[in-house]
Amino acid sequence: FKAKEQRGSLSFFSDDLTSSARRRLDMERRLRYALEHGELSLYYQPQWDIETGAMTGLEALIRWQDPEEGLISPADFIPVAEQSNLIGSIGRWVVLEACRQLADWRGRGIITPRVAINVSAQQLLYHDLVEIVAGALDETGIPPRLLEVELTEGVLMSAAVSPEKMLHELRQLGVRMAIDDFGTGYSSLAYLKRFPIDVLKIDKSFTDDLLTSREASAVVETIIVLGHKLGLTVLAEGVETSDQLEELERLGCHQFQGYLRSKPLPVNELEDFLISYKC
Ligand code: C2E
Ligand code: MG
Ligand code: MG
Ligand code: MG
Repeated sequence: FKAKEQRGSLSFFSDDLTSSARRRLDMERRLRYALEHGELSLYYQPQWDIETGAMTGLEALIRWQDPEEGLISPADFIPVAEQSNLIGSIGRWVVLEACRQLADWRGRGIITPRVAINVSAQQLLYHDLVEIVAGALDETGIPPRLLEVELTEGVLMSAAVSPEKMLHELRQLGVRMAIDDFGTGYSSLAYLKRFPIDVLKIDKSFTDDLLTSREASAVVETIIVLGHKLGLTVLAEGVETSDQLEELERLGCHQFQGYLRSKPLPVNELEDFLISYKC
């Protein structure tokens, strides 16, 4: 398969491709088309302060509206983008789109909290994230403190992307940093002290099991204590019930996001909400 791909000949699409490989190539082709033809968009999910109930942020989550297949989940197409060179262009688009959206809201007097964007580890291999973020902030005039970058734990351990330099450069710009899906990766706790991190996002799997599993509950409690001791904000992902929220509040968790309060919303729905909410 690899050899044929490198030759780039017609035999690329020959019958000996497994059907899953063919599906992946087909999705890659459609995804490239989608990026170039405006079929990608960002939805925004509000984040909330548990104690005060105030909105503290918005997480930008990519969506793909395919004319034939309907809405395709990022869980399905981001891995395909990561296996091709598309993640570079998609990542660049996400940064710019989020900044342009923020600028548009500010221009129209719609007040918003900060926006967090997701950056995949593969995207960092291009080594141009800092440049892209700086360029987008410059082009749109967005104050850097309104932007947050979410990275997963694996990135901190990666030798390939020199994360230390990159994180410090992002911090130098004034951008905030969050560790996504915290607790699921292999980070060494020593990294948390070394890197300029602002937020720990407790993975949804722990929130799910918080009330039913002693192990999950112990992990959540430990992350919250760790956050407090290191002076980091701790946010729980995927909160769906008020019982979960009460327990998180009892444990001292600062913020949450989840269907309990709001799903990710398309821009028009979010705007209606922001205008009536007045952050
Ligand atoms: P993530 O960054 O950990 O995002 C959280 C996911 O949980 C989102 O799924 C969100 O819609 C979902 N979620 C939030 N609250 C709840 C809840 O209460 N219940 C349930 N069942 N789900 C909830 P989504 O939007 O499908 O995104 C999945 C993953 O795809 C993200 O996980 C992130 O890793 C990736 N992703 C999304 N947008 C982007 C992007 O712009 N760039 C990159 N590189 N990855 C992205
Ligand atoms: Mg995220
Ligand atoms: Mg997450
Ligand atoms: Mg995730």
